[in-house]
Amino acid sequence: MPETAVTGRTGGMEEAAVAALREGFGGTVITPADPGYDQARRIWNASIERRPALIARCAGTADVVRAVRFAREHGLVAAVRGGGHNVAGRALCDDGIVIDLSAMRGVFVDPAARTVRVQPGCTLGDVDRETHLFGLAVPAGVVSKTGIAGLTLGGGVGWLVRKHGLTCDNLIACEVVTADGRVLTASADENADLFWGLRGGGGNFGVVTSFLYRAHPVSTVLGGLLVWPRDRAGDVIRHYRDFIADAPEELTAYAALVHTPDGQPAVAVICCWCGDIAEGERVLQPLRSFGPPAMDMVQPMPFPAMQSLLDGAFPDGTRNYWKSTFLKDLGDDAVDLVVAHANRAGSPLSAVVIEYYAGAASRVGGTDTAFAHRRFGFNVGMMAQWTDPAESDRHTAWARAFFDAMRPHSSGAYLLNFVDEEGQDTIRAAFGASYERLAQLKKKYDPTNFFRLNQNVQPAI
Ligand code: FAD
Repeated sequence: MPETAVTGRTGGMEEAAVAALREGFGGTVITPADPGYDQARRIWNASIERRPALIARCAGTADVVRAVRFAREHGLVAAVRGGGHNVAGRALCDDGIVIDLSAMRGVFVDPAARTVRVQPGCTLGDVDRETHLFGLAVPAGVVSKTGIAGLTLGGGVGWLVRKHGLTCDNLIACEVVTADGRVLTASADENADLFWGLRGGGGNFGVVTSFLYRAHPVSTVLGGLLVWPRDRAGDVIRHYRDFIADAPEELTAYAALVHTPDGQPAVAVICCWCGDIAEGERVLQPLRSFGPPAMDMVQPMPFPAMQSLLDGAFPDGTRNYWKSTFLKDLGDDAVDLVVAHANRAGSPLSAVVIEYYAGAASRVGGTDTAFAHRRFGFNVGMMAQWTDPAESDRHTAWARAFFDAMRPHSSGAYLLNFVDEEGQDTIRAAFGASYERLAQLKKKYDPTNFFRLNQNVQPAI
């Protein structure tokens, strides 16, 4: 049998094998010979350049089962793609198969039960669009194009985190295709161990083909940006730090060192108040009068508008390299360090974000889910973003030097969702005290480590 362009170093695949996969496959099987291949292997971070032998764009659970079994039969390494937003490009692989869920984008709201069933190719925007129709929202992230699947499995922090918890805290059940091609339900009542692991354990245990979430009555929020010139950064961050720690949980707010659209370095506080609007106006007054800001764009808005407020700052096709760490504390010296390094960013697209999540998620027991780091301090995200590939070294060096400088202030804990290309030590630290239990679970559900192109947990021996 003649070999074709799909032959991969890992798979050594033949045309007949691909034809067999295509036979009865509900979605699309894309090979390097197909015209849509280059588009299909594109993900959000343009720094990632990988060439899978096959992209199995699944239409439903049956396709996922076939893709998993096919990969096993042919010894292919497999990547799982949800929204394609993982900064390290874990949604792609070289030579193997991408189990691509991006065409599975159904969202089904049950307004009476306040639950939402979501397919794994959905972006946050897909979910918000449907839930908003009923005045509901699922706590998720802050950029509408992010995939809900990867975000949920890593925990999920966003504009509702302080009031309603992590995304994974609002998960009721999942349908999962395991490494041996079985379809399982994971919930508090069925396969409860697996359900524990899916809430913070990343993509280690199978392909989640549907998520059932609890939704909350959130429709109009008081949100937006407050912006000051960069030379006020130290004062603004210190004020933000002191203010947010005592603010009601209806308020989630991040401080950010960014550039304005016309290229001016600035410091911003981005707020989302999800309670009564009049009360929010009162609560936010000390932030809004501080300085005062050069720009105050805080206003009542539909929740989906809040969710897409930052989309423009993270456009498709830029190059990205991210670092982050939780801090022991955000003392004045740490603030000064953050500002000094932010001021050295070589790209106006790069950003530094200080985030605070304590609230509802802190009250969930430390061992109730796999998400380990619930005693939240401030988290600092150091996001290098640029467009010219020739500048990559310079921008990654900036993020690395920044991260090294923050080491003395780091608590040694990391948010799994923001772990970029890190070594196993950092990944292990991101799983924290849950790691050993996750390793046991991995041994039970994926003993050969079939799902390994992720923030990987090695099966226990
Ligand atoms: P993909 O890149 O598609 O997949 C990444 C990995 O997730 C895969 O390798 C696989 O291991 C796993 N995975 C994906 N889908 C499945 C599935 N159905 N079943 C099993 N495993 C699966 N995180 C936050 O918590 N809060 C934020 O506010 C936030 N904002 C972000 C903003 C931007 C611009 C970006 C780029 C990222 C942001 N993140 C945020 C991080 C984000 O949550 C993670 O990158 C997450 O992995 C993205 O999910 P995805 O489905 O798009 O991932």
